[in-house]
Amino acid sequence: MGVYITMKNIVIIATGGTIAGSGKIGESASYQAGTINVKQIVDSIPQIDTLANLTMIQLCNLDSNDIGISHWKKLREYCERYDKDDSIDGIVITHGTDTLEETAFFLNLTLNCHKPVVLTGSMRPATSTSADGPMNLYQAVALACSTDAYDAGVLALFSDTIYSGRDLQKTNSYKTDAFKMGEFGSLGYMRDDQVYLLSEPHKKHTHQTIFANLSIDILPKVGIYYVHSDCDPQLLEDMMKRYDGVVIAGTGSGNYPSAIKDVIEKNDDCILVRSSRVIEGAVFDSKYFDPELKTIPALKFSPQKARILLQLSLLVTKEPKKIKEIFSIY
Ligand code: ASP
Repeated sequence: MGVYITMKNIVIIATGGTIAGSGKIGESASYQAGTINVKQIVDSIPQIDTLANLTMIQLCNLDSNDIGISHWKKLREYCERYDKDDSIDGIVITHGTDTLEETAFFLNLTLNCHKPVVLTGSMRPATSTSADGPMNLYQAVALACSTDAYDAGVLALFSDTIYSGRDLQKTNSYKTDAFKMGEFGSLGYMRDDQVYLLSEPHKKHTHQTIFANLSIDILPKVGIYYVHSDCDPQLLEDMMKRYDGVVIAGTGSGNYPSAIKDVIEKNDDCILVRSSRVIEGAVFDSKYFDPELKTIPALKFSPQKARILLQLSLLVTKEPKKIKEIFSIY
């Protein structure tokens, strides 16, 4: 373990998830997320108190499927408060893995922060054999102490690997190595408390974005329409009436059946983003599927991330051309 001359001061903001989950002793398969408080988790981690002085905040204790804009706003408030507080060096957020990538992406786009912000969680509950939460949290704290993590955008630490909040995606539903950044690999790795951060995000993040100074209360309504064989065009039409924007999770490079193309060609009101249900690759303008360019291509963003970026974009403009530019900037 490394020797820290001056111990750093790290805040852990806990929101629940499997890292705070419990069930039958030893079992991983059946448990309830968000039942153990942050102090209990920290108390179970050998040596964590040699890494940093810890302040613990229990923001909520929920399965991350119940985390949304109201929690994101509170996280944003806390992070920005601690970013300005000279007695704090970094922030760790514990979070359920199911929607961790959405919270990380929202914070990466909206935090007016410079200090390290690291999200982590676990795939096995605290009461299972070989629970992965303690090591993930230990390493997340070590990463938040690292000067390399300063101004690096919102990060996530999982299974010895450092990810960017922009690009990580949950890609495994039960194994402990549950996240990936697709073709980008990762930003780095860790060995115990040693940080090996190798890459930096090139895209604008946190205090560099147009959203960082935005006061965000409610987000525009944006839904995701999932394309599949024989998908129902009426459902898309209904969504376009009810929502300010719709992200189409298309097949392949953001494609869809001709019945969906007809609906899109008739649209002049609802902002549409074309993304893909395929994990790797990207979605660009398509002369065949969208000859009149009625949709904004999501580029590398997954449907769930394109949704958040469209919601934030709609707070600053309703102009499709400008939204397209925003998608290319972030
Ligand atoms: N359902 C859990 C959650 O997202 C899964 C997890 O944390 O791994 O809260």
